[in-house]
Amino acid sequence: MKRTIIKNAQVVNEGKITTCDLLIVGERIEKIASQITDNQAEIIDAEGHFLLPGLIDDQVHFRDPGLTHKATVYSESRAAVAGGITSFMDMPNTNPNTLTQQLLEEKYAIASKNSLANYSFFMGINQDNLEEALKTDNENVCGITDDGLYFSNDKGILANYPDYLDLLFSRTDTLVALHSEDDSIIRNNTLKYREIYGDNIPMDLHHRIRSEEACLTATKRVLDLAKKHNNRLHLFHISTASEANLFDNKTPVREKRITAEACVHHLWFTEKDYELLGANIKWNPSIKSQGDKEGLMKALIDNHIDIIATDHAPHTKEEKSGNYFKAMSGGPLVQHALPALLELYQQEKISLEKIVEKSSHNVSEIYRMIDRGYIREGYFADLVLVDLNNIWKVSSENILYKCGWSPFENQTFKSKILKTFVNGNLVYDAGVFDESIKGHRLKFSKIR
Ligand SMILES: [Zn+2]
Repeated sequence: MKRTIIKNAQVVNEGKITTCDLLIVGERIEKIASQITDNQAEIIDAEGHFLLPGLIDDQVHFRDPGLTHKATVYSESRAAVAGGITSFMDMPNTNPNTLTQQLLEEKYAIASKNSLANYSFFMGINQDNLEEALKTDNENVCGITDDGLYFSNDKGILANYPDYLDLLFSRTDTLVALHSEDDSIIRNNTLKYREIYGDNIPMDLHHRIRSEEACLTATKRVLDLAKKHNNRLHLFHISTASEANLFDNKTPVREKRITAEACVHHLWFTEKDYELLGANIKWNPSIKSQGDKEGLMKALIDNHIDIIATDHAPHTKEEKSGNYFKAMSGGPLVQHALPALLELYQQEKISLEKIVEKSSHNVSEIYRMIDRGYIREGYFADLVLVDLNNIWKVSSENILYKCGWSPFENQTFKSKILKTFVNGNLVYDAGVFDESIKGHRLKFSKIR
């Protein structure tokens, strides 16, 4: 088995930063100590650099199968490992939508051949496939979700159907992850602005249409139901400060029955950025105010919000253009999420330890992942080595997404991803990929 020593890295893990050596044997971390010598091992000198557990992104749309003109598991997992993300969980709004166990397994088969990162795929749920969704295997599938399915079905956001949610929550012990916005409020807001502007609603009104009220109303409704059933609920991409305050911050993350997530774009952009970036920052839920951005960061720090994800959702440049109604919602993010978070660290908004807790440790905890999410002896060697003093600029030459653009284009970052290990394999090394070894299907403990 291959042996590698990472020497003198500043290891960011479990609330501490420690300078030490790390021995990888095969797929796993064999030893962590202040000094390790091993004659057979290849040595990587990491002096002055920081070693983090690879990020675990629980919300991506890699578009495979059926929408591969936007992205594929191959192209986006490549961008993910270049961005320090070593595991991802993908959404069911591929084509066909992932609404049967067979379609779900077909996605795993695609990933086993093409994914450079570790992977899991959510089982999709809508109002027609309850029995099928309930068959989901907790140990081999991350959870069930409605996220993104509203693009193909008017009744797609389950948060709007309390009776159905009541039934679902009463019958499942699988983690249910939801997209939470109120359709009727969004519809009324859309009508109001359409009367004024026709099809050419200014893009900066997106956050008045997909408004704070739409988020808060749906989230309150869903939380009331989940508290009644005490089922395992996770809410994706919380975008407002007022919702963030609805979540408990007293219970340790592993014991929480309800968990919440913030996304990198909601921690970075505000409504002021619509003027310059237009549809490139059109997301659902929308980018909101400065107060929301600051409130979300505060909620991460004080543990009302448990994890950080990307909601990586690529569209082609053409699909992102046209009027308010034509330009699609969503944008690519996996390659730039960690550099953006490290930039927020350098702006003193969040510590390195907290970044690691929210993007790796806690994701592992809330999904009950097996042997990942920490830098520990015996765990899989999913690692990212970063240089916090290596300035670079996002440009069309270094964007790896199949869609070829990024909402961060022309942004200068101070931190650079140097190397990424997935299961002990150095898959990304200063711009060069080792594509010979693919990622693993993620495993979870049965009881969530
Ligand atoms: Zn969503």
